Amino acid sequence: MSAKPQTFREALGKKFSGPDPLERDFVTLGIAIAALILFVGIGGTVMPQMVRAWQGLAGQPDVVLTNALLLNIAVILLGWNRYKSLKTELERTRLSEEMARKLADIDALTGCYNRRSIAPALAALIESAGSQGLLVATVLIDLDNFKQVNDLNGHNIGDEVLKITADRLGDVLPADSLLARLGGDEFACAIPYCERKSQEIDHLVSLLIEKVALPIAAGGVEVEITMSVGIVSSDWLHAEASRTDISTEMIHKADIAMYHAKKQGKNRYFWFEPAMEYELRFRNELESGIRKGIISGEFIPYYEQQIDLDTGALVGFEMLARWRSKELGMIGPDIFIPIAEEIGAIAELSVHLMAQAFEDAKIWDSSLSLAINISPVQLRDPWFSQKLIKLLVQHNFPPSRLEVEITESCLHENIGMVRTMITSLRNQGIRVSLDDFGTGYSSLAQLRSLPFDRIKIDRSFVRELKQDGTSSKLIDAIISMGDGLQMPITAEGIETPEILELLKQMGSLKGQGYHYGQPEPAEKVAQRLASMGLLDLSKLEASDLAWDLADNGLQEAGGSVR
Ligand code: C2E
Ligand code: CA
Ligand code: CA
Repeated sequence: MSAKPQTFREALGKKFSGPDPLERDFVTLGIAIAALILFVGIGGTVMPQMVRAWQGLAGQPDVVLTNALLLNIAVILLGWNRYKSLKTELERTRLSEEMARKLADIDALTGCYNRRSIAPALAALIESAGSQGLLVATVLIDLDNFKQVNDLNGHNIGDEVLKITADRLGDVLPADSLLARLGGDEFACAIPYCERKSQEIDHLVSLLIEKVALPIAAGGVEVEITMSVGIVSSDWLHAEASRTDISTEMIHKADIAMYHAKKQGKNRYFWFEPAMEYELRFRNELESGIRKGIISGEFIPYYEQQIDLDTGALVGFEMLARWRSKELGMIGPDIFIPIAEEIGAIAELSVHLMAQAFEDAKIWDSSLSLAINISPVQLRDPWFSQKLIKLLVQHNFPPSRLEVEITESCLHENIGMVRTMITSLRNQGIRVSLDDFGTGYSSLAQLRSLPFDRIKIDRSFVRELKQDGTSSKLIDAIISMGDGLQMPITAEGIETPEILELLKQMGSLKGQGYHYGQPEPAEKVAQRLASMGLLDLSKLEASDLAWDLADNGLQEAGGSVR
């Protein structure tokens, strides 16, 4: 097949006008055979009579027999004619079946090969290239955010974009290469190349990325689309790969490289490397581990102290998730939260953690607040605040003690929706903080229009406070901005007494960080609170923690437990 498969389809379209239904006329065939037998019988009698009559040796042949013979000849001619048209019709059927087979081998929308037909074609290409001392690069292409193009503009325009993309790919690819649409917005190409000139493939793929990214005018709108690309060379093929395995293996490896390109930020290409395969396997393990871990209760809340820097008093805790995986050990949220978001498990995970945290925090002194982190994915759920209230009611935890932290990056999403969400949470008595401030470039105008209760300065600024004058100026600016907006400030990531001192001089802040200790599990927090007289004994009785504390002999620290 040529590099421009759409031409191939056109050729098919012209050659065959389409199949007609065929009726096999067996009756006609039967009559023709009967007529032939009769012709032999009657002809055997009448013909010699006729010959003799013409020679003048005998009288006219029998009229009835002669007429029967003529009728016979007419029927035979009719039968012959029918036989000829039958043959033509059979030929047409054969051709249309052949066309149907070929049509099943091409993708109806783009005219390229499809997932089924690329397999033998790729195997054959690798074989023929190999015999000329060449390798084949299998290139897997996945359009970035194509779902959005479909959702925003409808499927007709989506189809048009796919067609134009296929045309553009076909235009750039050399004539001896293959192009297939594997389904949806996924394409595969195969290009023979010389081992020493792999950079030619790099150039070609860069050109493909560039051409596909040009604006597409479709259905009166202009669409721009990028693509993520994975490339694998046929020299990665297992020597023992059978002909049927070749394409599966090539496409699988190119897919792994493509997935890597997606992870690295899309709109780019990567050559396959074995490390990517291990990474992907690990990632799959994490995904299934997360799903199982939620059910088996492997996700647990840890708590980080939050302190009033002026008085040094403990004012509350921030809940930070931990995964105590049976298979993989202790895993931090930076690893599993993004995956849980991607696989759609974050809401379930979060509910599970919050439920535990509300139970844990119930026995704390009622002056202590509980802060929870909420993912941008959860904020997209219009029912989020209702669900949260329901959970609070179920666990009998007062909304006034709860603080929801949303990261600055959320503000780049639908700002109207975020505003509605914040307002709705605040109406229920829940406080809302802006987390990781300084990392997300939110504007002053945005901040003014969003009714946050608190701003948390990102730990990256706080960490650099000691060495770097710029950081201290930045923090100063944030503090005075907070004053102007009447939003109190928390400084995250206080690691040393020096940084604490510097911050204390800068204003009236709350703070948290390893200087006050690492995040701790519920039992450790309860022990800490018991020793500070900040446990609510009346609620402790009903709590599972009573046993843990008794085991640790801390119940008897009696006097200090409230
Ligand atoms: P975050 O909200 O900024 O949480 C603070 C992170 O800073 C925590 O990391 C904490 O252990 C760490 N940290 C605290 N003090 C210090 C310090 O003095 N120095 C340094 N270098 N780090 C400090 P962790 O627990 O690994 O959490 C990472 C992030 O994961 C959190 O950042 C938060 O955005 C997210 N996260 C944690 N739990 C949840 C959760 O339940 N749901 C969601 N959506 N996100 C969560
Ligand atoms: Ca936080
Ligand atoms: Ca933070």
